[in-house]
Amino acid sequence: MSSSQQPDLIVEGLRVAVEGKEILKGLSLEVRKGEIHAIMGPNGSGKSTFANTLMGHPRYEVTAGDIRFEGESVLEWETDDRARRGLFMAFQYPVAIPGVSVANFLRAALNARLAPSATTGDGKVPQRRGMPPKEFRALLREKMALLKMDDSFATRYLNDGFSGGEKKRAEILQMALLKPRIAIMDETDSGLDIDALKVVSDGVNALAGPDLGVLVITHYNRILNYIKPDFVHVMLDGRIVRSGGPELAVELESRGYDWLREPAEVGTP
Ligand code: ADP
Ligand code: MG
Repeated sequence: MSSSQQPDLIVEGLRVAVEGKEILKGLSLEVRKGEIHAIMGPNGSGKSTFANTLMGHPRYEVTAGDIRFEGESVLEWETDDRARRGLFMAFQYPVAIPGVSVANFLRAALNARLAPSATTGDGKVPQRRGMPPKEFRALLREKMALLKMDDSFATRYLNDGFSGGEKKRAEILQMALLKPRIAIMDETDSGLDIDALKVVSDGVNALAGPDLGVLVITHYNRILNYIKPDFVHVMLDGRIVRSGGPELAVELESRGYDWLREPAEVGTP
């Protein structure tokens, strides 16, 4: 990890409105590949708004500030372009696709990631070149071995009758194949039993490294017993109000969030 290099993701003074209501009120954050950041905050503080805005969800209107990824503003990029460039968000509630195997789904996802943008500079739709099936199968086997997954998993229908832990496995496997540069996990831990939590954590820990920056978003520090963040940020009312190291998560566990609120908000006279 080198701290002298330019951060890979720079969020600067970000203001975001949803249906005319301002939710993010000047959020700034810098993430470098190789770092794990935790963003913690109570429900309603704007964490999911931030995650969805990073991915370019059309419902979230950026009214001020900027998001720069590897030196370029992403604000004009569609969601699929952001994904192709290496931003990845794990779904909180993955959908089932009966009839489509895990392997086929992942192959389609990977080919979409490898494909050039929908149009070239001259407006023509470029030719799509997918990964050859044999190469894909080898890559899939390699990643499944890395994540200690049974080969039979790849032939099952995506999320069809999957347990919570198996859905998480499918997500983590997708992340391993797509090799994002920045991965955003929004409340990936909520509602998970301890086995599923271990799947997510072991997976993230296996994939973490110098080429990946991770943003773990949670209102609840249970997952941070398994994924060790380098930085912890507290989000309150659409802003990051405090940043620190892992010790900040421990402090939040014992003290809650109220001590970080503006005095006027905690009802002091
Ligand atoms: P968190 O993830 O921290 O719980 P959210 O970003 O989901 O917070 O929500 C922050 C605020 O924005 C809440 O007051 C919520 O009601 C509002 N909000 C978020 N998304 C939407 C949406 N799609 N439509 C309307 N309001 C929204
Ligand atoms: Mg949320």
